[in-house]
Amino acid sequence: MIVTSLKPLDEILDSISPYSKILIAGCDGCTQPPRGLREAKTLSQLLELAGKLKGKDMQFKVTTVVKQCDSFLTASALKSQMDGVEAVLSLACGAGPQTVAEIFPDIPVLPAQNSHFVGAEDREGGILEDRCSACGDCILALTGGICPVTRCAKGLLNGACGGARNGKCEMDPERDCAWELIYKRLERLGKLDLLKEFRSPRNYQAKAWRLTP
Ligand code: SF4
Ligand code: SF4
Repeated sequence: MIVTSLKPLDEILDSISPYSKILIAGCDGCTQPPRGLREAKTLSQLLELAGKLKGKDMQFKVTTVVKQCDSFLTASALKSQMDGVEAVLSLACGAGPQTVAEIFPDIPVLPAQNSHFVGAEDREGGILEDRCSACGDCILALTGGICPVTRCAKGLLNGACGGARNGKCEMDPERDCAWELIYKRLERLGKLDLLKEFRSPRNYQAKAWRLTP
């Protein structure tokens, strides 16, 4: 899932303030927490109220899209709703507003969310944890299934920095040192020899991969 958080209301209000007729588009895809129709309605009510308090009369329409990052689904869902719309406020992760902007290049598309990471949910602990930064060159096979790109605060690929204390990261004592976790997992798997392999610096071009049908 893509872990996101709603932008502060004031920031959203600032971004939509030049417009009077705004379509709020939720996304039923993989954002966590969910940001579908219900959340779009709630946001419209909050923004309407906040706008009135600032002397601004704004009209909102609300809708949702099955997956805002899918241009076909988004075009199908939104095209019939764009009459009179001056701006779209997207409740999707960062991929959503960019998809909408490509489909409607003459309409300003504004993000209502900040996107943080590809995460996993720990239901017992009630937290969402960052697990993947979508680097495009997955090395989990070499690191015992624990991602150092994401979970090591320095994104180190060749072992620990040496700053950990009691298994916790020197950059954030609330977090486990990723490389200590990797060491323990590889030890358990009998694969510590993997640590002897040198890993080249990250290939940032891997991020530029494109899906070709
Ligand atoms: S190595 Fe890259 S693709 Fe694999 S989990 Fe980490 S960030 Fe994601
Ligand atoms: S203490 Fe561990 S997790 Fe933190 S930066 Fe150093 S190697 Fe990475």
